[in-house]
Amino acid sequence: MKQNITASKLYDYLQCPHRVWRDVYGPQDEKIQEANPFVELLWKRGVVHEERIVKKMGESLDLSKGSHEDRFQKTMQAIKNQTPLIYQGVLKHENDLGIPDLLQRMPDGKYLPIDIKSGSAIEGVSQDSEEEGKPKPHYAVQLCFYIELLQKLGLPNTGTGKIIDIHKNEVQYELHSPMGKRNKITWWEFYEQSKNNVQVLLSGEEKNKPAMSGVCKLCPWYGSCKKWCKENEDLSNIFYVGRSQRDVINQDLGIEKMAGVTDLDIDELMNQKKKDKQFLRKIGKNTLEKIVRRSTILTKTKKPVVYRKIEFPNVSHELFFDIEDDPTQEFVYMHGVYERSAECERFIHFTAKEKTQEAEQEAFANFWKYIRSLPQDDFSVYYYSHHEKTTYRKMQKLYPSAVTAEEVESFFNSPRVIDLYQIVQKDTDWPVSSYSLKELAQYLGFSWRDETPSGALSIQWFNEYLETGDEKILQRILLYNEDDCKATMVLKDGIEKLSISKK
Ligand code: SF4
Repeated sequence: MKQNITASKLYDYLQCPHRVWRDVYGPQDEKIQEANPFVELLWKRGVVHEERIVKKMGESLDLSKGSHEDRFQKTMQAIKNQTPLIYQGVLKHENDLGIPDLLQRMPDGKYLPIDIKSGSAIEGVSQDSEEEGKPKPHYAVQLCFYIELLQKLGLPNTGTGKIIDIHKNEVQYELHSPMGKRNKITWWEFYEQSKNNVQVLLSGEEKNKPAMSGVCKLCPWYGSCKKWCKENEDLSNIFYVGRSQRDVINQDLGIEKMAGVTDLDIDELMNQKKKDKQFLRKIGKNTLEKIVRRSTILTKTKKPVVYRKIEFPNVSHELFFDIEDDPTQEFVYMHGVYERSAECERFIHFTAKEKTQEAEQEAFANFWKYIRSLPQDDFSVYYYSHHEKTTYRKMQKLYPSAVTAEEVESFFNSPRVIDLYQIVQKDTDWPVSSYSLKELAQYLGFSWRDETPSGALSIQWFNEYLETGDEKILQRILLYNEDDCKATMVLKDGIEKLSISKK
């Protein structure tokens, strides 16, 4: 049976090129059927945002209900009637089916497709920057799809669509312009390539493989793809080998399994690369060396390695620190610290119990008061990844009365304030495929008390807490945050132990 192409399939393809194939041909019994509560939360928020925007746009013809065929007929009639704004109209032609959030009639009589998104309309710059950002590929291909459908239905448009984003910015996408200063391919050409790839995957003419990445955690195929990668000893099990590197190695070296890369002759490969620039594209000597080291640890030695002696500060108080925040709403609701000293170990937290700027500011200011109360130069702080530092810089700008920019900088620049992730990725290797705090702490024997610990779920719990005021939910978040802090401690101790054994 010929599969319909929809805008969401194009979106999925750009999120993960394997998803389109797996949705049709994957082992359906391995696909998680229950909706992820965090995904549901995002969806609900998206609906509310969409309703607000549609209301703000003025009167529109609501075609959101009914069968696709019925809605399509009504959409065509509405266009014929020169209806100024159509909400959730259906465009279809052969196997293509698109539902733009809005179709707006322009002064020249042409229709402009508009999508309302819960993310930012542009990428590559921060919201408050004055620089110009770039369109997002997954938004651009969806707009191209609607425009192509309009063309096929005899309603040509000049190749322009619009995204209205979470900040209510209205951004025009010019889809016949090049994708970037260096990349001369137009958005339209990019769309055509993507659509063609989706078509061959949907028809089964081509098949591609999973590769774990950041988007996998919220995907219903997460467990299934992870199992596939493990069972097939796929190269993407090697930390930092993503889909493109894996595919290049598969193709250029004919190697599919991890054990196959442990004995690569790197010098010989580099010589070959000098003669042929297309050979092992974008894979340099450093990367190959890491691949060999990591695959050897994963398949042969199965033991972690530290490459230099690591000495941590000798201080009276060690703090293991982690924040809980909702990046979709740019709100930090918890700063947790597990404090260890010769006298005791204790968990301290600074929590915003309401979603207000006052509550967020108070929790942030109290964290800094606590830091200032510690014995000067006699404490160290451990955290994992740059997220805390980036978030604190942003928060300082929002709440300068809580802490000065200089204090934040001198805190994070202190040699006693340590991002363990930097050490993990530069100076160590582990017999696990992801170097996330969860994987590493679990490898070291730590387990979270919650059955489904996850940062995304913590956001969902916090929103539930705000709605219900149920203290049990808040306790669950605290327990999770405390365990994240303790996991950081377990990792620090693990690295220290490994390092001691190094002469
Ligand atoms: S789990 Fe990851 S690799 Fe598998 S389909 Fe989903 S996003 Fe793609």
